[in-house]
Amino acid sequence: MAHLRCALRRAASHQMPGSGKSTLFRPFSSGTGQTAEKNVPYHKTLKEESPRGKGPTKPLPTSAEVVVVGGGSLGCQTIYHLAKMGVTNIVLLERDRLTSGTTWHTAGLLWQLRPSDVEVELLAHTREVVSRDLEQETGLHTGWIQNGGLFIASNKQRLDEYKRLMSLGKVYGVESYVLSPAETKDLYPLMNVDDLYGTLYVPKDGTMDPAGTCTTLARAASARGALVTNILAKMLPRSPAIRHFISHIGAWAQILGRMAGVRVPLVAMHHAYVVTERIEGIQNMPNVRDHDASVYLRLQGDALSVGGYESNPIFWEEVSDKFAFGLFDLDWDVFMQHIQGAINRVPVLEKTGIKSTVCGPESFTADHKPLMGEAPELRGFFLGCGFNSAGKKTPGGEILSCPFRVTFSLAFRRFHHSLTDNHHWIRERSHESYAKNYSVVFPYDEPLAGRNMRRDPLHEELLQQGCVFQERHGWERPGWFNLREAILDYDYYGAYGHKPHEDHIYNQLLTDEYTFNFPPHHKTIRHECLTCRNAVAVFDMSYFGKFYLLGPEARQAADWLFTADVSKAPGSTVYTCMLNQRGGVESDLTVSPIEPEVQDSSLTPSFEVDGYYLAVGGAVAQHNWSHITTVLQERTFQCRLIDCSEELGMISIQGPSSRAVLQEVLDTDLSDEAFPFSSHKLVKAAGCMVRAMRLSFVGEMGWELHVPKEHCVQVYWAVMKAGTQHGVANAGYRAIDSLSIEKGYRHWHVDLRPDDTPLEAGLTFTCKLKTGIPFLGREALETQKATGIFRRLVCFTVDEKVPMFGLEAIWRNGKVVGHIRRADFGFAINKTIAYGYIRNPDGGLVSLDFVKSGEYMLERMGVTYPAKAHTKSPFDPENKRVKGIY
Ligand SMILES: Cc1cc2nc3c(=O)[nH]c(=O)nc-3n(C[C@H](O)[C@H](O)[C@H](O)COP(=O)(O)OP(=O)(O)OC[C@H]3O[C@@H](n4cnc5c(N)ncnc54)[C@H](O)[C@@H]3O)c2cc1C
Repeated sequence: MAHLRCALRRAASHQMPGSGKSTLFRPFSSGTGQTAEKNVPYHKTLKEESPRGKGPTKPLPTSAEVVVVGGGSLGCQTIYHLAKMGVTNIVLLERDRLTSGTTWHTAGLLWQLRPSDVEVELLAHTREVVSRDLEQETGLHTGWIQNGGLFIASNKQRLDEYKRLMSLGKVYGVESYVLSPAETKDLYPLMNVDDLYGTLYVPKDGTMDPAGTCTTLARAASARGALVTNILAKMLPRSPAIRHFISHIGAWAQILGRMAGVRVPLVAMHHAYVVTERIEGIQNMPNVRDHDASVYLRLQGDALSVGGYESNPIFWEEVSDKFAFGLFDLDWDVFMQHIQGAINRVPVLEKTGIKSTVCGPESFTADHKPLMGEAPELRGFFLGCGFNSAGKKTPGGEILSCPFRVTFSLAFRRFHHSLTDNHHWIRERSHESYAKNYSVVFPYDEPLAGRNMRRDPLHEELLQQGCVFQERHGWERPGWFNLREAILDYDYYGAYGHKPHEDHIYNQLLTDEYTFNFPPHHKTIRHECLTCRNAVAVFDMSYFGKFYLLGPEARQAADWLFTADVSKAPGSTVYTCMLNQRGGVESDLTVSPIEPEVQDSSLTPSFEVDGYYLAVGGAVAQHNWSHITTVLQERTFQCRLIDCSEELGMISIQGPSSRAVLQEVLDTDLSDEAFPFSSHKLVKAAGCMVRAMRLSFVGEMGWELHVPKEHCVQVYWAVMKAGTQHGVANAGYRAIDSLSIEKGYRHWHVDLRPDDTPLEAGLTFTCKLKTGIPFLGREALETQKATGIFRRLVCFTVDEKVPMFGLEAIWRNGKVVGHIRRADFGFAINKTIAYGYIRNPDGGLVSLDFVKSGEYMLERMGVTYPAKAHTKSPFDPENKRVKGIY
């Protein structure tokens, strides 16, 4: 038996790479061999339950609605949810026995509060299933233990983060309390609270039992007709007899992905915890997450399991298909990082022995979120993998069986295809996400790993002028303008023998922004915003997705895809949405009908009959691409979608002086008569052919120039030169975020998501409901229009100067009615602006009168602030500025 004290005694003091602090990470076991058993702490695993390879108890059906591969937590959740939805012809293929991959050795912790409304909702659902539904349905106990969860804050910022979670929890009925150190001690007498700032206590958190949960899920699914087998999926059955194929094989997902020609961007890593001997007085204590020490303490009967996230996790390089109910030897060199934090928090651990070690494989992704939904490469092939040590608590089936619930943050399509087979990028980013998993989630953080993958033609020019870049979809896009600093190669924060950068000013800039207050660069953003409002600003938006929809049936495809009527003459530009069948918004974009040209180029593609130029948000380009190509395929329209995103740059010039500036650069009349709002033309800029569009995403008069990449620098400098006398400034996406919310323009995937309809989001004007033209989602919208809407996006302003970032709770007449999706500071109106969907607590309709008649408060970190609801944008509500009326 190893003792933690023994571990500490034997440990030599080492410099932790990059930390500069003396720390203990030398294993006590390296010189003496393995000192604890390799064993999971559960009373029962399914390893012993039935002989391996027994095969299906019933003959396999000749056809299946859904084939699920993998009988771990996700596979079992999926068959249960599908069966419950009424799908009867489901087959689950598990190469060994249920749970034999990662699930059997999971710690099984379920924490309900996360900094994401989607995840909070999903977790609440999982909790209901394991703690209530399954037991009611099967009469079997899943092994769920509700011992509560306690989050430790050692500093103010951490407690602020917890208070944000507490406010969000109120929206979803998740009970939580901020406790003082003394109250924490009362709750958990064995805890050291001397260095505590406070804690967040969530009484209904708990722990899941892997074997109990999975067998109960599988039994409930089988009772409804699902067939669970012991079969290894060795190939992808490409048969019309199988409608959907769902891969839930966790760390093994790339093996099946390769067979199917689907790239699965994840890495497998060793992930571990140790189980202690009995601890007197620990029974019934809540599970603990000490984020600042990167360690968790899970109650294990009368003992604790101790685990966490290391700075140097071990990659599982050669994922073996034979690995079932397997564990790795624990590498104490890696794991020792957790010991000091654990002992500091619960000092009795120092004298407690370690009974067993559990180190198994788990799959991790670039942003620590799972990969879910249909693979972009193959129709009918769904994935649900890469659960980043959180798969026990994710109701895979719920999401997969209902694609509309796969929000963008979890969807496979959030990654650009150029990244999904870039092993270097996946590895770097997955490492960083793992190592930072317990870091405070600040609103303006950016990754340091996997940067500079996609650089637009203006990158160097902007860098030289002090651009601080943000990473989106692999692109480096301008965030704001500050110092002249490059982003250095990833140093793994000093792990694996990498020399950490001593002077990484970009990293320092990010670190300065780590606050829930107004960030230090608030004034810089203000300057960029007000320059745009009062003079002219130049935004490099080249990272935008730019597609052409071309061909004989492009018009029919456009009619069906887009909510707005885009059957206009070439030269017009239309803002529109694309919907799913349920009327949820899959995208908002601009569509410009174009004329066929003689010369085939990135600016003027050759085509027959009809053609449209589409401009979509750069971070969601892959999602848009997949949505459109899926619809084209389903409807068999005779047309092509062409991606010109990398071929064209996009420079947006916005502000009252934009016309004066551009009139010097463009060889065309920019008057309102000659070039009205929402129109576009092929023109010459500084001698180069560009497509100029009169549009604005910031609520000003302005033009976007879509420029072939080879001419971007020339055009950009011509604009900057002409702008000098008008006080032109570069501005970035931080300014765009503020300016666009001030004007009330929606951001897809924040204000608009696949579960929001245009009617709810105030975008009915984009829908051609008054025409007879059918479009995808129309029927759902008509039904909703007839019934009325039960939730509505509302704009709020707060007079008190207080920063908000989203997730704040919305109170109406003393009741919580929703939460803020997006918030920012509006510099022209000098107020915080926040948008969120509200519901009627009585379950009734949410009319404009309902909105207007309420008294509102927004709750930020447990404190409420009076807020005013607006039914029109508080800035330029009559839309004068975009029309050039100043
Ligand atoms: C140490 C540790 C602690 C953890 N703690 C927590 C926690 O506290 N809370 C939490 O939520 N999560 C935790 N996790 C993560 C969680 O356990 C996993 O995310 C989850 O179990 C993954 O489930 P899965 O179904 O995706 O994969 P798996 O459980 O790995 O299931 C995949 C299944 O697919 C089968 N398979 C593979 N290839 C094939 C094939 N070709 N044909 C047929 N079958 C195949 C395998 O045999 C396996 O049974 C932890 C993980 C580890 C390693």
